[in-house]
Amino acid sequence: MIFLKTNEEIELIRESSRLVGKTLAEVAKLIQPGVNTLTLDKRAEEFIRDNNAIPGFLGYSGFPNTLCISVNSQVVHGIPSNYELKEGDIVSVDCGVLKNGFFGDSAYTFAVGEISEEHKKLLRVTKESLYLGIKQAVDGKRVGDIGFAVQQHCESNNLSVVRELVGHGVGRNLHESPEVPNYGKRGQGPKLRKGMVIAIEPMVNLGTRQIIFERDGWTTHTKDHKYSAHFEHTIAVGATEADILSTFEYVEEVLGENVI
Ligand code: MG
Ligand code: MG
Repeated sequence: MIFLKTNEEIELIRESSRLVGKTLAEVAKLIQPGVNTLTLDKRAEEFIRDNNAIPGFLGYSGFPNTLCISVNSQVVHGIPSNYELKEGDIVSVDCGVLKNGFFGDSAYTFAVGEISEEHKKLLRVTKESLYLGIKQAVDGKRVGDIGFAVQQHCESNNLSVVRELVGHGVGRNLHESPEVPNYGKRGQGPKLRKGMVIAIEPMVNLGTRQIIFERDGWTTHTKDHKYSAHFEHTIAVGATEADILSTFEYVEEVLGENVI
């Protein structure tokens, strides 16, 4: 069942989603060689609670932390740890918050210091594919139009799109219907309606699209151990254009001229 949101509900989801953006910016301030990923997680939890909200992932199906932090060949759902980031790493940080009864969900992949040109391209194309997917989130189109746009852009840049994990509706629950795959065919899948709120989240690999589910029950990594990137926005489907409820503006203010 797909829940259509009222304008009031969309504003509450916007508030939660913008808080995710601000949290990711606090994390961005700490990302540098030598910092461990658990330190990032602690800062995020503290910031979310200081803003009268609840970490959305902590305890979700038993997930142990506030952030999913996935480094290099890890795709998504990585668990924060004592791993110290090093120059040349890429680190995907995924965050959810619950405030006023509604979730927000957004993710950004960061470069740690200088990264290779190949990895810069992975980050740039993945972020571009997110915005191309968002462009399709208009009343009357189909979920497949979003996936097609994402897949087309990534594959035409010789990158591959993960199939096993997908985007989703967002609202009173972190994960609602419909599923929003990052691949698909134009004109197929559930019809998009004004008032639907969904998270679009391309997970894009440098090599094979194949992924491995690790024994911790959460972490996923690429089968060939090449790097993977992940960007995510929570958006509301609009009559003529999508309304992006989360934001990278705070993060990119922190990154300044280092934005890829
Ligand atoms: Mg997320
Ligand atoms: Mg999500």
